[in-house]
Amino acid sequence: MLSRKGRIAVLSFHSCPMGRIGGKDTGGMSIYLRELSRELQKLGFTLDIYTRLNGDKHPVLMKLYPGVRLIHLEAGPQEHLDKLQVYKYLNLFNLSLESFRREKGLHYDLIFSHYWLSGWAGLQLQKWWQIPQVIMFHTLGAMKNASCREEAEPRLRLETEKLLARRCQRVIAATKKEKEQLISLGAKPENIRAVPCGVNLELFRPLDKKKSRQKLGLEAEKIILFVGRLEPIKGLKRLLRAAKYLKGRHGLKLVIVGGDEHSLEEIRMLEKLAHSLQIRDMVSFLGLVDHEMLPYYYSAADVCAVASYYESFGLVALEALSCGTPVVATEVGILPEIIRQGETGYLLPNNCSASSLADRLAYFLDKNSRYPAAAVRETVSSFGWHDIAHQVKEVFDEMIS
Ligand code: UDP
Repeated sequence: MLSRKGRIAVLSFHSCPMGRIGGKDTGGMSIYLRELSRELQKLGFTLDIYTRLNGDKHPVLMKLYPGVRLIHLEAGPQEHLDKLQVYKYLNLFNLSLESFRREKGLHYDLIFSHYWLSGWAGLQLQKWWQIPQVIMFHTLGAMKNASCREEAEPRLRLETEKLLARRCQRVIAATKKEKEQLISLGAKPENIRAVPCGVNLELFRPLDKKKSRQKLGLEAEKIILFVGRLEPIKGLKRLLRAAKYLKGRHGLKLVIVGGDEHSLEEIRMLEKLAHSLQIRDMVSFLGLVDHEMLPYYYSAADVCAVASYYESFGLVALEALSCGTPVVATEVGILPEIIRQGETGYLLPNNCSASSLADRLAYFLDKNSRYPAAAVRETVSSFGWHDIAHQVKEVFDEMIS
């Protein structure tokens, strides 16, 4: 029997890790929590993940893996709320959490919080429980504001992130760039640990391109793939404009995966743009795709496009590479650390033009310029969740004596 290392209260206040991935507010952070918690319990940790009841039909308590529970707490209306609307229910959330904890007689060794809202909740719990907090921001408001004017993050978030960067005992940075950004927010370098996010190497593997296309019913000769939440920061307008430059290419499709009923406004705007660019017939908006089905999409594609203005990490790129598919991307998140120019993809400046994006995408649409899938995959083989969990464990071990 595994001896237990420590009991951890994981906070994911605004977004339920078992929510539908690819919707407005549920993306990489939920994948991170699902995958990492599965590996951390194998290393002997017990985790209770707390989230707000948001109207999804989930039981209050779900056992995700041995030693990992997901607990839905009442805090405000049981419906999907905007991130800023949920802020005012943070106190209620903490009170519900504390009453659950007392009722069950639980004691925690560490708080592991995700996103600034959970970090804020964690500050209060830290005081009540007198234990340390490790935080992972997933995105930083100041960096988002500096990169994309269409999504202005409020002062409340910016100030809270500065406070958390200083007050939490450890901050996990997903990239070297994020580490620098955290220092500029006031985090002490000695409190920051750089641990990247991971990829499920068993799920995301190279599959036969032809068979994958047949399975998905994708009838195209060449496919550019986008996967992600449909938010302005993801640079989809720029990607559509790039597709316009490639219009003359026979049998080319731009396949867009992601977006749910909460993203309808964004989808309509993008459809309208595709119409006005006269490329509507070249673009398929597929909506949400089950995470488990994505290896077929990545394998069916000739190239995956990440045209974002900002990513804190960029799991989609890692998943595509793990399936052997090259990635053409802006210099966001982990991408500058993993892309090999001209071999596994191309990196472009954040403010790149649609025409230069089109130019790089075209390179990978050309059959002769493809690097073997196994070689592309090899470049991300150190990002398996098992290895990532070991690195996170080291951070926890420093905190739990
Ligand atoms: N995703 C998914 N289905 C979709 C769209 C996205 O499973 O329809 C997943 C995708 O595989 C990835 C995550 O959502 O794991 C997005 O993470 P990323 O870090 O790229 O972006 P974020 O959501 O954190 O901005």
